[in-house]
Amino acid sequence: MEIDQVFIIGFIAVVASVSAYFQLLKPSGAIAAFLTGVFIWAGFGIKGLILLGVFFLTSSLLSKYKSHRKQQLSELHQKGAARDWAQVAANGGTAALAGIGNFLLPDPIWTIVLASSLASANGDTWASELGVLSKVQPLSVKSFKRVPTGTSGAISAVGTAAAAVGSLLIALTAASLFPLGPGWTGIIFLLGVVGTMIDTFLGAYLQAEFACVTCNRLTEKTIHCSLPTRHVSGIVKLDNDAVNFLSCFTAALAGIVLYIIF
Ligand SMILES: [Zn+2]
Repeated sequence: MEIDQVFIIGFIAVVASVSAYFQLLKPSGAIAAFLTGVFIWAGFGIKGLILLGVFFLTSSLLSKYKSHRKQQLSELHQKGAARDWAQVAANGGTAALAGIGNFLLPDPIWTIVLASSLASANGDTWASELGVLSKVQPLSVKSFKRVPTGTSGAISAVGTAAAAVGSLLIALTAASLFPLGPGWTGIIFLLGVVGTMIDTFLGAYLQAEFACVTCNRLTEKTIHCSLPTRHVSGIVKLDNDAVNFLSCFTAALAGIVLYIIF
């Protein structure tokens, strides 16, 4: 290995470790983030790492933004602020696969996979992290009723705008790093927004929802009030991470189809 390669792998390890130290990542999340970084670097070099870095940095900062207020909402959510391996794989897994793909079989199509999956991941993360701060309760896309803030499958104006800006940031950064052209930059932006919408609809219709047997509250958690919860609706194994992965993966898949057509 060349000395600069050792330096970059060391740099990725340091970023992952520091993120764990500051509780942006759990230890399992730090390992997954390290592997994601290495795979993306192997396939796309420093440019790939910069794009991943924009997603990781802005999402992490937004997670920390008004974290006290978000903690009050954590009753509803399966997991806390520090991301574990499943959350990292959900958001970065498709991008990591693109890295492996471009390393083994270099082709511009992998850049589309990388950028569209990260646009979707960024749009969704921005929507979640900023949408929950909305003063207005979000609207469920299933019942069209106002539901408690932070509910999966519900949208707010703030969250929707955040998704669009988050996706646009990735599309524009990708365009500045890779020879995408205006057409593909626009498509990646739209794929990011579509991925976020897929996330919302899967969250509303297919994601597992549970109810606490003690306090009767609806939750994504499998344990509440120290007891296993009761399955209410959705596919049991389809949790928020699986939904996130599927939406990023679908956005990338749509990008592949468009790339083949055009
Ligand atoms: Zn409970």
